[in-house]
Amino acid sequence: MPGFELFGDKERKQVQDVLDSGVLMRYGFDGMRNGHWKARELETALSQKMMVKHTHLVSSGTAALTVALASAGIGAGDEVIMPTFTFVASFESILALGAIPILVDVDDTLTLEPKAVEAAITERTKVVMPVHMCGSMADLDKLQAICKKHNLLLLEDACQAIGGTYQGKPLGSIGDLGCFSFDYVKTITCGEGGAVITNNEAFYENSHQYSDHGHDHIGSDRGAEQHPFLGYNYRISELNAAVGLAQIERLDEFIAVQKRNYTVLRDALSQIPEIVFRRVPEGGEENYSFLNFFLPSKEITQKAHKSLGANGVDGCFYWFDNNWHYYRKWEHLIEPKSLGKLPQDVLDSLPDYSKVNFSTSDQWVGRNISCLIKLGWIEEEVHERAKKMVEAIKRVI
Ligand SMILES: *Cc1c(COP(=O)(O)O)cnc(C)c1O
Repeated sequence: MPGFELFGDKERKQVQDVLDSGVLMRYGFDGMRNGHWKARELETALSQKMMVKHTHLVSSGTAALTVALASAGIGAGDEVIMPTFTFVASFESILALGAIPILVDVDDTLTLEPKAVEAAITERTKVVMPVHMCGSMADLDKLQAICKKHNLLLLEDACQAIGGTYQGKPLGSIGDLGCFSFDYVKTITCGEGGAVITNNEAFYENSHQYSDHGHDHIGSDRGAEQHPFLGYNYRISELNAAVGLAQIERLDEFIAVQKRNYTVLRDALSQIPEIVFRRVPEGGEENYSFLNFFLPSKEITQKAHKSLGANGVDGCFYWFDNNWHYYRKWEHLIEPKSLGKLPQDVLDSLPDYSKVNFSTSDQWVGRNISCLIKLGWIEEEVHERAKKMVEAIKRVI
């Protein structure tokens, strides 16, 4: 998945433009910037690529989620439905706004289970936030129908799935709002960065204002701008945007390389009858950043994961035991522990996650192995890796 693997002259040239002008900030300094507006250009490129009306860049994927929620007016007391298997950024962004993260089971897609989503809806629910983990998507048709029925917003966290599609549409572009991360290990990197995409004019206007202290961005004199509402600083720098501008041009190339490598590994693993691959909802196409599969039991999966490592196969994850991606290890959320006191309503309303039954998630995540697909592998290397993977897994089955 990592775009950082394939750095080149295009990235260097883009960054050099910014250094030569000396304007590292995305707003203002019109006369000094030699016509370079890297953040704006990347926003235009992303809107085209993602087939949406609006893109607003921010400083990270976490910032993108926070800004997206804020842009839709989500705040204190609102409930946001999110999966048990995701990155910690999901609940961080929700809590940052004083809203309540409502965790819901995942199924064999490794994303939100639609029935569990519907069961979790209350009068306070405002948003359903599927997370397209490891390059593949939630059942967006079903989730969209649920959102429509209950008048909820659909916010796609596509941070790990850029370049994937659903019914021919780019992931991230299907919900009311979509978010990307361009941190150092994502498919496309800016070093640090993120984006909010939407077709909703008001959400877009709110996004760019909220992420720049509430500046209204009207006129060319920054000092004269008004601040219609409170905001924060989630701005991206021109340096980061410049890197992304070179990278986004290479998205199709990156996805093609990932697909080639993924296919070799998947074909090899298909020879093992006990292996079941992750379900991709009908009409979906992954971005091939990870190969995900299930083994018959948790015990076998744990052994297989160890065996892969011992056989020299790096980059395979057992998320069930992972500190960052699965609810079991989120004791800072479960307790919850924060530096300052959380709002009383959050403390009162947050479910006791040490007691909630997520056995469906445990069933699937406990039997899942997830292997990172690298861009830099040469062909012989992938075939060698495939052989080693099959050997390592057969040894424990
Ligand atoms: C990386 C990631 C984020 C957060 O992105 P940052 O840019 O690292 O803040 C959010 N959600 C998911 C699923 C991610 O993988």
